[in-house]
Amino acid sequence: CGIVGYVGAMDGRDILIEGLKRLEYRGYDSSGIAMVGDSGTVEIVRSRGKIAVLEGRLRERPIAGSIGIAHTRWATHGKPSDENAHPHRSGPFVVVHNGIIENYAEIKSRLQLEGFGFSSETDTEVIVKLVEREWRSGKDHKQAIVDSLRQLRGSYAVVFLNEAAPDQLIAARKESPLILGLGENEYYLASDVPAILPYTRKIIYLEDGDVVSVSRSGYSIESFEGERLERVPRTIEWNP
Ligand code: GLU
Repeated sequence: CGIVGYVGAMDGRDILIEGLKRLEYRGYDSSGIAMVGDSGTVEIVRSRGKIAVLEGRLRERPIAGSIGIAHTRWATHGKPSDENAHPHRSGPFVVVHNGIIENYAEIKSRLQLEGFGFSSETDTEVIVKLVEREWRSGKDHKQAIVDSLRQLRGSYAVVFLNEAAPDQLIAARKESPLILGLGENEYYLASDVPAILPYTRKIIYLEDGDVVSVSRSGYSIESFEGERLERVPRTIEWNP
C-alpha cells in the first residue's frame, strides 16, 4: 500500500504513476489516481489489479493536472474491487488513505442514520463522509478534516484534495508513514522516500498528529490544535 501526492507547475500524472510503481514493493491489490483538471473539477480513475490496468484505463480516459493524489491499496476492509479502490470521494472532498480505522463501523451507522449513502465497503469512505458532514456544519475545510480525524481510532496516512480549494493538498498521519518532499515551487507527499527521490532529496519526515497544508507557493505544518510546527528537512544522501 502506498500514497503519492504532487502539487507544482508540471503535469503531475506521470510523477504520480511512476511514484506508485516505486512503492510496489509495499504490496497492493488495486490502484487509483485523482487530479484537478483544467476545468477545476477532480477526475478520478481507479481499478482493481496491477498499476498496468490503471494505466490502460488512463489511456481510455486521459487525465492531467498540476495537483493530484494517487494510491495503491492493500485491502483491509472490503474486498479488492474497483468500487473499493481509492481515491474515495464525498461532496468536494477526495481522499487516499493507508491504514485501518478501527471504529469505522460505528461511525458508518451513525452517518447512515443521518442519511449519508456509501458506495464502497471500505473503512476509508467513512473518513471522507465525515469530513463532508463536518464541512456542511459550517467549518472551513481544514477544520472539518481535523475534527473528523479526531473522531477516528486506528492508524492513517491521509491526503485530501478539495474541489472547493483546488490548489491545495491537506495531509495528516497517525501511525502510518508519510513524508513531504520539497522541490522548487513544487511539493511531493509519499509513504516512502523511493517514490519521490528522482525529483527531490529534501525531505521532511512527518510525525504523528502533523497536519500539512501544501500548495504550489509553500507549505505549513500544524498540530490538531492549530499551532504552527517547525520540522527540519533532511537531505537524503543514499540511493535506493
Ligand atoms: N483500510 C483501507 C482499505 O482497506 C486502506 C488500506 C491500505 O492501507 O491500502 O481500503
